[in-house]
Amino acid sequence: MSAARPTPRKGVLDIEAYVPGKSAAPPGVKLHKLSSNETPLGASPRAIEAYRAVAAKLEFYPDGSATKLREAIGARYGLDPARLVCGAGSDEILNLLAHAYIGPGDEGLYSEYGFLVYKIAITAAGGVPVVAKERNNTADVDALIAAVTPRTKIVFLANPNNPTGTYLPFDEVKRLHRGLPANVLLVLDAAYAEYVRRNDYESGIELVATSDNVVMARTFSKIYGLAGLRLGWAYGPAHVIDALNRIRGPFNVSAPAIEAGIAALADTEHLEAAVAHNDRWLAWTAKEIAALGLKVTPSVGNFLLIEFSTDKGRTAQDADAFLTQRGLILRAVGAYGLGKCLRLTIGAAEQNELVVAALRDFMSGARRA
Ligand SMILES: *Cc1c(COP(=O)(O)O)cnc(C)c1O
Repeated sequence: MSAARPTPRKGVLDIEAYVPGKSAAPPGVKLHKLSSNETPLGASPRAIEAYRAVAAKLEFYPDGSATKLREAIGARYGLDPARLVCGAGSDEILNLLAHAYIGPGDEGLYSEYGFLVYKIAITAAGGVPVVAKERNNTADVDALIAAVTPRTKIVFLANPNNPTGTYLPFDEVKRLHRGLPANVLLVLDAAYAEYVRRNDYESGIELVATSDNVVMARTFSKIYGLAGLRLGWAYGPAHVIDALNRIRGPFNVSAPAIEAGIAALADTEHLEAAVAHNDRWLAWTAKEIAALGLKVTPSVGNFLLIEFSTDKGRTAQDADAFLTQRGLILRAVGAYGLGKCLRLTIGAAEQNELVVAALRDFMSGARRA
């Protein structure tokens, strides 16, 4: 018997679609979107100019292998452009990796509060998502290694992780890598690497360069401020890059994204300003919120995970409603199993001050925002 209508293959309808950060404030209230880890500094003016210049040439297909962009990334990070592949955001890269390496019944592994795109990508590929417990909101290398089975094909590690903001030092990443069988691909998702200011952190470049089963994913969406354009890339062993090139769309990265990406990489001043802004305001905001009696997970990214009480009127949901009345939109992270928490993106100076003031009012029991 054939079905009465077309039916997606097994696994597709098990997926709970990714829910992006909210971006609506009540009517008449100024919106402060602090729910998607976007940069308050915007894109580099040079990237915007490069983007505009492409408008006159939109009838042309882009260079399908994004050669100039790969060369610019290679020059900026000291990498061989032949071992780079670009994508429509690193989300595309993560999905390509899952589709290339996971088949029906294969397992993809990630940590408890790991980025939700991993679960979606693994399931969409027909695989089985496997989750390893974390400790102190941080990936646990022992738990990850213990969860590996003969069916494991990929381990996804966001480092630093979203939504927790925690990271694994390079020693720990190397220990994880040593604990994996040679046929398991370790995907290091370093979307926030540029923000990290820790001597014991390494984004993945060194490990990719020295092994055959590690790939690093990066994005232009976060510190470079190009989230709306969709641009990411991966650095990996030649055989992994070859596999991704075979399954990606032939023109998966648009011409405006290519040009803006090249210009963004050249604007080191803009990047440094973004790092300096985050350094200052991440520390200030974390300290002020902790001083209100809320638990803040130590973060090395551009966002903070804030834990609320379970007391009536004091929960994360109550705080979310209170902040939303003031136009302050944070990210609910119940889908991660973090229903007691909200994630706050570090914003412009004024926005961070508004959030702290609002949380102070919320904690002191103000009924109305
Ligand atoms: C934001 C983010 C990404 C990627 O986003 P794209 O916009 O698709 O490049 C990847 N991983 C993590 C952990 C992120 O937070």
